[in-house]
Amino acid sequence: MISSSQRTINSKTSCSGIGVHSGKEAIINLLPASCDSGITFKRIDLEEGKNVIKANYKNVTTTNLGTTISNEFGATVSTVEHLMAAIWGCGIDNLIVEINGPEIPIMDGSSEPFVFLIECAGINIQEKPRKVIEVIKTIKIEEDNGKMIEVSPSKEFAIDLHIDFNHKHINQQSFDYASTFASFKNDLCRARTFGFKHEIDYLHKIGLAKGGSLDNAILVDENGIVNKEGLRYENEFVRHKTLDFIGDIYLAGHFIIGHFKASKPGHGINNKILHKLLEDETAWRMI
Ligand SMILES: [Zn+2]
Repeated sequence: MISSSQRTINSKTSCSGIGVHSGKEAIINLLPASCDSGITFKRIDLEEGKNVIKANYKNVTTTNLGTTISNEFGATVSTVEHLMAAIWGCGIDNLIVEINGPEIPIMDGSSEPFVFLIECAGINIQEKPRKVIEVIKTIKIEEDNGKMIEVSPSKEFAIDLHIDFNHKHINQQSFDYASTFASFKNDLCRARTFGFKHEIDYLHKIGLAKGGSLDNAILVDENGIVNKEGLRYENEFVRHKTLDFIGDIYLAGHFIIGHFKASKPGHGINNKILHKLLEDETAWRMI
C-alpha cells in the first residue's frame, strides 16, 4: 500500500449508475490529476468555479446515511465512501472525480466496480514521492452505546474492527486488516452494504433509499438474508464496515500509518477521529 511515489490513473474512465438514496442516475468520470493535488470531486452540472469539493474530512457535512462532502457554495456530493475506499485500495493519491449530480452511484453496493474501473484506466506512477501521515501518539474517541475508535503508532496501516448488532443473523463480528497480510482487492472490496427490512421500510416512508434493491445491498429480515445469492464472504457485514471505515479515513487527504481499533464504528465517529487526530499537531507528522 505505501509505495514511494505518488500515483494517479493513466487515462479518463467513466461509469454510471443510480444513487441509493436519490434513486437518480448519475455519470462519474475519473480523470488523472497532477502531483500533490489529492482527490477532488467536481459537480459538472453546477456553475464552474463553485463546483469543486476537496475530498477532505473538514468538508464532511452529513454522516447519517453515508458520508456527504460540501463546499462553501453549497455544492454537495454524497455517498463518497465506497469510491474513496476503492481509490485508497488502488493506492491512488491524485484523482479528479467528475459527477453530474449530487450522489455517487451505488453500483453493486461494494467497491469492486470502482476498483475495476481504476484498474481498466491503468495506474500512472508519478515523479514526486508520496506524503504519508504517521501517527505518533495514541488518540481515542468513545461515545455512548460502546462506540469507540482508537489509533496508535504502528509500522503500517492496520485496522481491527468489531461490530455488534442486536440481530440474530449478524450479532458480533470482528475483522483484522493490515496492509502487510491482507489485500483490499481480495479481502474487502467485494463486501456489500446492508440494511434491515424494518429500517428500509422506514427510509422508503421518508423518501430515502429510493434506489436501494437486492442488486445493490444485502437485505436482512427476521428470517435471515433475503438475497437469493447469499453472502459473498461469511462475515461480509464486518468486512463492509471495514471498507466504509477505510473510505471515510482516506478523507484525511493522505494515506495514514497507524493502528486503528474500532468498535461499532459509523460515518460520524469515523469523521470525528480524523478531526481529533489531525487537529492535534503533537499526534502525527508528515513523512
Ligand atoms: Zn458502505
